[in-house]
Amino acid sequence: MPLEEYTRKRKFEQTPEPPAKVESKAGHRFVVQKHDATRLHYDFRLEMDGVLKSWAVPKGPSLDPADKRLAMQVEDHPVSYFDFEGIIPENNYGAGTVMVWDVGTWRPLSPVPVEGKYVPGTDAEAAAMLAKGDLKFRLKGKKLNGDFALVKMKGRRPGSKGNEWLLIKKHDDYAVEGYDIDEYDESVLSKRSLAEIAGDEGSREWKSRPAAGRGKLKAAWLADAVAKLDRKNLDKNNLDKKKPAKNNQAVQTAPKKKRKS
Ligand code: MN
Repeated sequence: MPLEEYTRKRKFEQTPEPPAKVESKAGHRFVVQKHDATRLHYDFRLEMDGVLKSWAVPKGPSLDPADKRLAMQVEDHPVSYFDFEGIIPENNYGAGTVMVWDVGTWRPLSPVPVEGKYVPGTDAEAAAMLAKGDLKFRLKGKKLNGDFALVKMKGRRPGSKGNEWLLIKKHDDYAVEGYDIDEYDESVLSKRSLAEIAGDEGSREWKSRPAAGRGKLKAAWLADAVAKLDRKNLDKNNLDKKKPAKNNQAVQTAPKKKRKS
């Protein structure tokens, strides 16, 4: 059953993450989430077959073709996960802070380059490339753009789970030599840093900051996602006012050591 593992790992009465639901509409969105769990990593997710195919990338994606980033394939996530930003509570799977680091759309590339250049492919080709372990695609995001490949590692090391891939930027106009992901600690949905989302610092500043400072969002679905997040934050701020202050403290300042993922 699709998303079975996703559901098995989570306690939905505790986590704010969305429940499992397979989308019937075909879509080509992608999201990269920065996730401060037991160990900081980035989750790279491609919308395929009504779910988000997902890889955990410890060092995060890079625009430098010289970087071959280890990417561990993890359980499929529901498509609605693409705009999940917030805090997964202590003692839950993946406990920690999640930022929507990048969003956009992707398209499959044909496995066979034409005159040395990659050209758009079909969904059927993408499914075959994924099964074969060599998925080529083009991203159109706010931070990530251009051609990439996810390549499954064949030589299995002892103790490996067989879920190891490499995320590699292809050479094109969007390649950036020496790309440093740490320079971009900002949510594409809320403009907040990871620390601001966690409430460690600057959360007061966030609450008073007008939502208009985000620039124009061209894609309708992205505008929807931002509007949804605004409503969530508004609800949360209203709740915060009603709740006794010490409840908030307990959630926001709990020690990092206890996190599990
Ligand atoms: Mn994660």
